[in-house]
Amino acid sequence: MRPAHALIDLNALRHNYLLAKSLSGQGALAVIKANAYGHGAVHCAEALSEVADGFAVACIEEALELRAAGVSKPILLLEGWFEADELPLLVEHQLWAVVHHQAQLEQLEAAHIASPLHIWLKLDTGMHRVGFSPAEYADVWHSLERSSKVASLTKMTHFARADEPETGRTEEQLAVFADATADLSGPASLCNSPGVLAWPAAHGDWLRPGIMLYGATPFSFSQAQAELLQPVMQLESRIIAVRELPAGEPIGYGSRYITQRPTRVGVVAMGYADGYPRHAKDGTPVLVDGQRSQLIGRVSMDMLTVDLTELPGSGLGSAVRLWGEGLNASEVAAWADSIPYQLFCNLNRVPRRYI
Ligand code: PLP
Repeated sequence: MRPAHALIDLNALRHNYLLAKSLSGQGALAVIKANAYGHGAVHCAEALSEVADGFAVACIEEALELRAAGVSKPILLLEGWFEADELPLLVEHQLWAVVHHQAQLEQLEAAHIASPLHIWLKLDTGMHRVGFSPAEYADVWHSLERSSKVASLTKMTHFARADEPETGRTEEQLAVFADATADLSGPASLCNSPGVLAWPAAHGDWLRPGIMLYGATPFSFSQAQAELLQPVMQLESRIIAVRELPAGEPIGYGSRYITQRPTRVGVVAMGYADGYPRHAKDGTPVLVDGQRSQLIGRVSMDMLTVDLTELPGSGLGSAVRLWGEGLNASEVAAWADSIPYQLFCNLNRVPRRYI
């Protein structure tokens, strides 16, 4: 078999979830949308089933997959529903829903549903993507409070720059949130992973950690709490060929890299069809037999090339780690002008193995 796989450590996932919870002592919905950021939603939900308060996914399809697999904990739909005919399914499968748009309010009022829904009402505090404006929020809240279709209401917003504390943007969003919800009683949920890790004053009643569950830091700088995360995914392969090249020789498509010295080139069975970022630059770190090496040459569909010149003990068959323990996916992502979220979500073709 092709020597390429993603090893998923479910103990590390549990550790990271419990870290999030320990930072606030409040509830936490594990965000496992997009197939648990590429880690396998059903496996991750099952691994967290004993410890998690509940889960959050993007849409009803993702929630129904979890219910079909026997996941019984609360599940929040982060974008609520898209069409009115999803509402009976939300009731049947006991799904919680974010409401962020006037059309959803109208659909809810017109709906014939067997029992009321748990609603998280989204406030736009400055992300300007979805949510009710601060001016209209309290009115919408009160109208839902009076509605027989609503079992409970939770205040909710989402941060745009919680990973960049120096910008002051999160303080601004918090001030808008405090002002718009001052007279509304009920639980509150504000924090994604950077909020959980760096904004304790914003923790509220429900955390919504995503990327930190998978052990990748959301920060571009060293952050004390993020250092405690354990990487969940090890993306691994092997050296499948070695070439000795003199100085001045090009490597791979587009001849992007030209050898600067006599170079031992290792060919790794991992490419962009596996989800490794094609835009990774020369110099992107790679671990070979646990030691740092670097990408040289453009990433191909099924292979990539690394510099083994400084690693005389490594060669054909050597173990390669593209990210995981010792090499955070965030670091690799930065070399590809990307983010760990995208690296994980793009994972493709490589089999996932769970430990
Ligand atoms: N909450 C909402 C509304 C989201 O859309 C997301 C993810 O995009 C999260 C929480 C989790 O964010 P993160 O992965 O940064 O923790």
